[in-house]
Amino acid sequence: MRYAVIADIHSNLEAFTAVLEDIGQRGGVDGVWCLGDVVGYGPDPHQCIELLRQCSHVCVAGNHDWAAIGKVDTAEFNPDAATAAHWTTRQLSTADKKYLENLPLTIEKDDFTLVHGSPREPIWEYVISTSLAQVNFDFFQSPYCLVGHSHVPLVFKDEGGDCSFNRLSPSVGLVLGENRLIINPGGVGQPRDGDPHASYAIYDSEARSFRLHRVAYDITTTQDKMMQNGLPIRLVVRLSHGM
Ligand code: ZN
Repeated sequence: MRYAVIADIHSNLEAFTAVLEDIGQRGGVDGVWCLGDVVGYGPDPHQCIELLRQCSHVCVAGNHDWAAIGKVDTAEFNPDAATAAHWTTRQLSTADKKYLENLPLTIEKDDFTLVHGSPREPIWEYVISTSLAQVNFDFFQSPYCLVGHSHVPLVFKDEGGDCSFNRLSPSVGLVLGENRLIINPGGVGQPRDGDPHASYAIYDSEARSFRLHRVAYDITTTQDKMMQNGLPIRLVVRLSHGM
């Protein structure tokens, strides 16, 4: 079986559509595993939820998904994120809100635990250092854990008391072996690793492989829509830089 692993769509319909097209061109998948933050920041929250729901998929809740339905206080957000969250709330249908309301914090699939932030703190914690990853290996049972939230494609490897990390890139396929891993497929709708291309991965359960893909999309159209809707300029500009 093959699964697409996507995270942090962030209401970016152009990026999400380009990723789904890329998946199709690679022969398709048996399902989509989404690591949360379907909404927030971008201009098409309703459309992104609808498109995701058309896929055979599972999805966990992210902090922006909860902010959009008032499940977390936007006082925890920076001002731009809070502005976008309040705007997002006004764009959602009743069905959208119900969908976000029902997203679980954690999902177990195959050999993987899926969360948005970290297995220890699924909504808020960023796994961005080996010391944080090390602690988090004790908070899930499966061999591997998939996280989003930082929008940076990374893999942390548990080496029996030690923890190492590597950037993930399309040129390096990851073979799933004995070592436990925490893997981040990067962000679809707001990449933050200096590369503006949408980021996602495909997991092949037979080949035991996990490979990152980067996809060009029509950034200008997304940015134009953000400007038309009065979303914060800093959120618009950062899409050009992937930061
Ligand atoms: Zn996010």
